[in-house]
Amino acid sequence: MSAGDPIDPSVGIAGVLPVERTAGVGVYGPPVWLPLRTGLDGGEVKVGCTFDSHGSQHGYECGGHHDRWAIDFIADTGTPVYAAGAGFATNITGQPGGSGFGNVVRVDHGFGISTVYAHLAGVAVDPAGEWVDETTVLGMVGSTGSSSTPHLHYERFALPSGATSVGQEASVDPGPLFACRAGFLVSFPQVAGFDSWQGLAWGSLTVASDGPACAEPTPEPAPAPDASASSSEDAPAGADADDEAPGPWATLIAPTLRIVGHSDVWDAPLG
Ligand SMILES: [Zn+2]
Repeated sequence: MSAGDPIDPSVGIAGVLPVERTAGVGVYGPPVWLPLRTGLDGGEVKVGCTFDSHGSQHGYECGGHHDRWAIDFIADTGTPVYAAGAGFATNITGQPGGSGFGNVVRVDHGFGISTVYAHLAGVAVDPAGEWVDETTVLGMVGSTGSSSTPHLHYERFALPSGATSVGQEASVDPGPLFACRAGFLVSFPQVAGFDSWQGLAWGSLTVASDGPACAEPTPEPAPAPDASASSSEDAPAGADADDEAPGPWATLIAPTLRIVGHSDVWDAPLG
């Protein structure tokens, strides 16, 4: 459907979602995926300092370290870091916005939203920038820049309305970060019993993901051999099986996000 079409109540918000999980060049998506899978040993990754969190480890005190929305995931050097959603990734190491972050990647998710992945041991993003999605490795966990132990500093930014420069971006609530675990879609930190990333004690929870594959569309079941009793007897073979079937954004992720309080910007039609 096009952006101007009325919303069909039979499909609910599916009718206005502009994005599918599998992004292509030029397609933005919100940063809603956990940016790590597991540690190098296959185990879960510990969450360190978050916004307004307390406790200390590895020589820094959370209270002074994170006075804004950000999450430190404690993981071994070399652990792959994935984009949290679709967008255009750039290596901003040494550039404005990258100070103290060591090797750092920024992903522009459109709608004034961006995410930052800092202290990387190495950056895997094309020097010219590249379109990425939640299946793309951006780099490896490290301890470059202002860091005292290997970890991923993950942060979400938003450009206040009316602001025009990247320098005016503000750190904002990253919201729930989704992951597939044993075939189920879960969100952190909710699955661990926390409503928000704010105020957690250092090491309050661990996270892990099997990747985003559980949000793939379910394949159409093969029609039963004797299902032709109805009017479809002479339907042409290979007729529109896809018929714009709603993707996982429409059927799975977006409704869940509504439950947990997702921003509405990605529900707006494109263009
Ligand atoms: Zn940090």
